[in-house]
Amino acid sequence: MSQVSDTTHAVRLDGKVVAGHLLASLRDSLQSVIKSSQRAPKLVVVQVGEDPASSVYVKNKIKTAQSLGMASEHRHLPESISEQALFAELDQLNQNPSIDAVLVQMPLPKHLDALSVIDRLGASKDVDGFHPVHLGNLVCGNPGGVLPCTPAGIMQILEHYRIPVEGKHAVVIGRSNIVGKPLSLMLLQGNATVTIAHSRTRNLSELTRSADILVAAVGVADLVTGDMVKPGAVVIDVGMNKKDGKLVGDIDQAAVGTVAGYLTPVPGGVGPMTIAMLMKNTWTLYQQHILQV
Ligand code: NAD
Repeated sequence: MSQVSDTTHAVRLDGKVVAGHLLASLRDSLQSVIKSSQRAPKLVVVQVGEDPASSVYVKNKIKTAQSLGMASEHRHLPESISEQALFAELDQLNQNPSIDAVLVQMPLPKHLDALSVIDRLGASKDVDGFHPVHLGNLVCGNPGGVLPCTPAGIMQILEHYRIPVEGKHAVVIGRSNIVGKPLSLMLLQGNATVTIAHSRTRNLSELTRSADILVAAVGVADLVTGDMVKPGAVVIDVGMNKKDGKLVGDIDQAAVGTVAGYLTPVPGGVGPMTIAMLMKNTWTLYQQHILQV
């Protein structure tokens, strides 16, 4: 396995490589579907407004879906759309049997409530795995469901690099519904002992120094410094922050790279896995829909 750089010793957990394997296997599955003249899976990405970062994410998702041979559509709605009009769009997508997966790109404009929007979309097309039914399945440990993409992608990275989770102390910084909370449940499912830290946590460094697996999903550049990490720990950097015009994570990569045993880079770590898991979820929903017909 390669190193982060000459001056560091942490093993680089390369999300691009893991995502590449997953996408290649999905492409193979799709090719056999297309050869047998079945319809291809279809993903619709709904974007509300003009957030520039969202536009980049939406473009990448559509491009990846197309590269696999999936059908895809970008529905770009005006920033000023009312909740009622957005709900009508979602109802229409829900009723269309040729659409398997729908993603509403977050964040939404302030006048729209994300939880109500996800609720209206319903579980059967929610490709992000944010619907309470999907999260409930995760809590109950029901297998085969649609899992939130970023935490599921992190678990795939750990699996790919054969990093055991069982019995380890995992500290997850961040308790959002899309990353921190579901990841904590997945690590728990893997029999880790999990501590969730957040903005009101006291003595953060004391906790992080006891972590065998440390995950930062906060959105603060360089929050985790070298002295906060246990030597040899597995460190996962989820953060996506702009610093001096560059994309950086929540981990001080240079300093932590000399202490940690394993480290995900930014970019090229968790990010590519999020998109790959989105494609996997589209495939899962497609299979569920095909079986129902
Ligand atoms: P969020 O804002 O919803 O949650 C941030 C969490 O960090 C909160 O639970 C908060 O309590 C905690 N927090 C804030 N300040 C803290 C501090 N000083 N100490 C400890 N905890 C603190 O964010 P999110 O949606 O979970 O995303 C977190 C980061 O991950 C962001 O940078 C986001 O862009 C990134 N992200 C990356 C991907 C990816 O694919 N790489 C996917 C999703 C999110």
